[in-house]
Amino acid sequence: EGNLLEVRDLEMHFAERSGWLRRSRRVVRAVDGISFDVRAGETLGLVGESGCGKTTTGRCLVRTHAPTGGRLMYRGGDGREVDLAALPHRDLPDYRRQIRMIFQDPFSSLNPRMTVRDIIGEPLRVNGVARGAELDDRVADLLVRVGLRPQHRSRFPHAFSGGERQRIVIARALSLDPRLVIADEAVSALDVSVRAQILELMVTLQRERGLTYLFISHDLSVVEYLCDRVAVMYVGKVVELGPTEELFTRPQHPYTQALLAAVPQPDPTRRNILTQRPLEGEVADPADPPPGCHFHPRCPFARDICRTEEPALRPTADGRRVACHFAEELSLPGLAVDDDAA
Ligand code: SF4
Repeated sequence: EGNLLEVRDLEMHFAERSGWLRRSRRVVRAVDGISFDVRAGETLGLVGESGCGKTTTGRCLVRTHAPTGGRLMYRGGDGREVDLAALPHRDLPDYRRQIRMIFQDPFSSLNPRMTVRDIIGEPLRVNGVARGAELDDRVADLLVRVGLRPQHRSRFPHAFSGGERQRIVIARALSLDPRLVIADEAVSALDVSVRAQILELMVTLQRERGLTYLFISHDLSVVEYLCDRVAVMYVGKVVELGPTEELFTRPQHPYTQALLAAVPQPDPTRRNILTQRPLEGEVADPADPPPGCHFHPRCPFARDICRTEEPALRPTADGRRVACHFAEELSLPGLAVDDDAA
C-alpha cells in the first residue's frame, strides 16, 4: 500500500540553560537527523534506552514539537502529500485528527473531573464532528469497541482499573477515526495479564480499522510480539532498522545486540549469536555526543575508524539498514572481539 509517512533527516535540537546561575547554554540534540518510513497498515516499533529521542520523535510527528530540521512527508486521507514539519498552525487541527498519540500513564492522562462521556466525546465536540444524542451514540459505540460498557459513560476515571483506563485512552484516540496512532509506552504501566489484553485489543482495532501504529517502547518482548518492523535509536540516531524477525534473530548493530542480550531469552539458538555482554557504560550526553560513532565508548568492537568517522545508516542484508562500519562481520555467528579493540 506504500508509505503513510516518510521521515527524512528529522532533527529536533533544544537549547537548554545549565551550570551556575544557568548561564551556560547548551544544545541538546534530542533527535539528530533520522530517516525512516512508516508503511500504511504496519506496526513500526521505535526502541532504545530512555533519552534516545524516541518520544521526541513521536512528539514531532504529532507536531507537539515543531522540528528544527528535516521533513515529515505524510500522505493524507485524500492522497495528497504534505510536509508536516512545515505545516502552518492553521492546518494543524486537520492533521491532528489523522495522527493521534497515546501515552504511558492512564492515571495522569485522563482528567479526573471529567466523565468518560466527556473524555471520549471531547475531540468529537471540539472538532464539530458530533454533539447531543449523536455524540452519545458515538461514545457508546467506542466504549463497546474497546471492550467497555455503554453504561460506563457517566462514570469518572477513578472508578476504573488501570487496564480499563487505558481502554478509555484508546477510545478517545480513536474517536476521530485516525489513520496513524503513535503509542508511547502505552502498555508499560500495566501488569502482565492486563498488558496482554490491551495488546490484543490494539491488534484487533488495527485489523478492523486499517490503522497504522508507531509503537514506542523500551520493552523488547512487547515489540517483538506486536511490530512488523523495528527501528533502534541511540542518542538521537537510528542505528538499526529492519523486519522484526530478522532483527531479533540476527541483530547486526552491536547496540541492538547488547539490548537483546539483556532480555531473558528462552530460545538457546538465539542466545548463541549475541554478544552475551551486558551493556556497560553510560548513555552518551545528547548535548555532547562522542565523535565518530556515538556508541564507540560502549562498543566492544570499536576500532580506530569508529572514533573519528560517523557511520551512515546504510542497507546491509535482508531489507535491513544499519549504522555500523562493521555491520556485516559483526552479524556473523561466533563473532569475536577484534584484537585492536580498546
Ligand atoms: Fe561499534 Fe564501530 Fe560499529 Fe560503532 S561503528 S557500533 S563503535 S563497531
